[in-house]
Formats: sequence, structure tokens, C-alpha cells
Amino acid sequence: MEQPLLDVRHLRTVYMTDAGLVRAVDDVSFDLRPGERLGVVGESGSGKSATAASIMGLIEPPGAVVGGQAWFKGRDLLDMAEDELSQIRGRDIAIIFQDPMTALDPVFTIGDQMVETLRAHLDVTRREAVEIAAQALADVHIPNPRRRLDDYPHQFSGGMRQRVVIAMALMCSPSLIIADEPTTALDVTTQAQVMDLMLGLADERGAAVMLIAHDLGVVAGFCETVQVMYAGKLVERSPVDDVYRRPGHPYTRGLLDSVSHLGADGDRRLRSIPGMPPSLLDPPPGCRFHPRCDYAADVCRAIEPEPVPVGGERLVACHFAKDLTATLETSR
Ligand code: SF4
Repeated sequence: MEQPLLDVRHLRTVYMTDAGLVRAVDDVSFDLRPGERLGVVGESGSGKSATAASIMGLIEPPGAVVGGQAWFKGRDLLDMAEDELSQIRGRDIAIIFQDPMTALDPVFTIGDQMVETLRAHLDVTRREAVEIAAQALADVHIPNPRRRLDDYPHQFSGGMRQRVVIAMALMCSPSLIIADEPTTALDVTTQAQVMDLMLGLADERGAAVMLIAHDLGVVAGFCETVQVMYAGKLVERSPVDDVYRRPGHPYTRGLLDSVSHLGADGDRRLRSIPGMPPSLLDPPPGCRFHPRCDYAADVCRAIEPEPVPVGGERLVACHFAKDLTATLETSR
């Protein structure tokens, strides 16, 4: 069997707040095969971005990773010194955030930033780095790429800036791209173009993609596997087609029913799941979804369900997973 590219085991990340300890990621395990496209979805505060940040060593105080491992090419990222990890970030693992200005420095030209990144990670001359940078801009369809290397980030539109970030992320040929809501800040038409472009280039390079989104619709269009998180826990992991046919977890079904759609006036609408996610300071006992779940029974209020196999490649964390996977349908 193919070795996973990334193998995350029992990851735990907390934030120390004045009100108490927030368990942002609570015993989360999953893996990612080379070239796989994994979508991670959940409402805000579900732990999806915190999971990615933990893997990449980007959790800052008052947060801390307090347990688990993240094996990448046989080495534990969580046990690495910062200088080793920073070599891996940007070369073997690229990260693309929602706001391109997180990755771009407003006071340097795009070319300077790209050349500096290339020379930090690859053994190339400045002239070679300029060639690679210009080609990377051309790959993301930026017109006049060589001339645009001399421009500053503010001289690009929002969509073009995110293309620059994608070019920078891919220019060192990473084997894993972590994209955290990479197109949320863009208009709907540009979102689809940028997503197509990013995933097309990832495929050409054989890179795996971990795409974080709050909307299952986005993930369904671009990923093979969906991982659903709720209140710091992984509640379902399934092939996309299976999830669409028969969601395994009641929360996944709720997310599918709330997939955004275009209203008659062109606005995006979201049918929300009734109730609110729990406070991670004091989550409910047993299944964290029980206060919002139509199927909750006594066992759900007392015992926390673990992710269990429910056939095929599916894992679902629900006491009634097997029965519900056979019967749940969406109202779509
Ligand atoms: Fe609902 Fe119980 Fe399953 Fe939780 S364990 S999702 S409360 S049925």
C-alpha cells in the first residue's frame, strides 16, 4: 500500500485564554497520499485552519501544539527545529492563505520577493531565479510576466495578487500545497478561475493539495476526499462522491444542506444549520454535535464517539454511523 505523504496522529492544539483553555484541535488523526486532493470543511472555529497551522509550525502564543505527530516524508514536523521547518515551508510544503497580503511584503517588488524565496530554497543564481520567477508568473497567466516582476503588490488586482501568491507557492515544486480558503476574498467568477488554475498546476506537478474551506460545495468541485471537522474534532472522512450520495454524519448532512447557492439577485445564500457550534472552553459531554443533532440519544450525551470505518474508505465519528450512512439523504 502506498505510504502517506502526510500522516497526522492525535494532534492536539490549545489556546490559553483568560477564560480558560480552548481545545482548538482535539485528538485529530488523518493522512494524505501523494497527489491526493483533500478538502477540509467545517464552520469557523471547527479547527480546520488550526490543524493546518499546527502542522506547519505556525501556531503562536497564546496557542500551542500540546500533542501528536505530523509525519511528512518520514519526519515529524512537530518535532523539528524552526530553521528546519522553515526550509520545508515554501519548498516541500507551500501554504496559500485567504489574504494574499499575508504572503506578500508591500515594500518589495514581486520579483525581489520571488527571487529571494527561490534562492533561500534552491541552489540557483540570481539570473536563474529571475527566469524561474518569470516562468512562474507566466504559468498563472499573468500578462507580461518579466515586466511585472518589477511591480509592487499594490499594483496588482486582488485576483492577480492571489495568482502571484500561487506562482510563489508552486515555483519550488512542493509535494504538498495547503490552501486555506484561498479564493474567499475574490469575486465568484475569479474564485473559480483561480481555483482551477491552482489545482491544474498542482496536478501538473503531482503535488497533493489540502484545501480548507467552509463550504462543501467548493470542496466537492475540486477534491477527491472530504474531511469534515466540528468543534475541534474530525467527524467524517469520505470520498467526495460517497458524501454527496449518502452523508455519513448528521453534521455532514447539515453542511450539504447549507451549501451556498446563487439567489435570484445573484447573491450567495447559505442555509444554516440550526443552533450554534459549542464553546470550545466547555464543550458538551459525549458527542459535541448532540445539542444540534436530530438523531441524538442518551448514549450521545454520555460517550464521545470515535471515528470508525463504515465501509469503503469512509470513517465516521457517530454512535449510529453504520445505520445513518445507510439511510441519510440530503434535502438537495
Ligand atoms: Fe448525532 Fe449521536 Fe451521532 Fe452525535 S453520535 S452525530 S448526537 S447521532
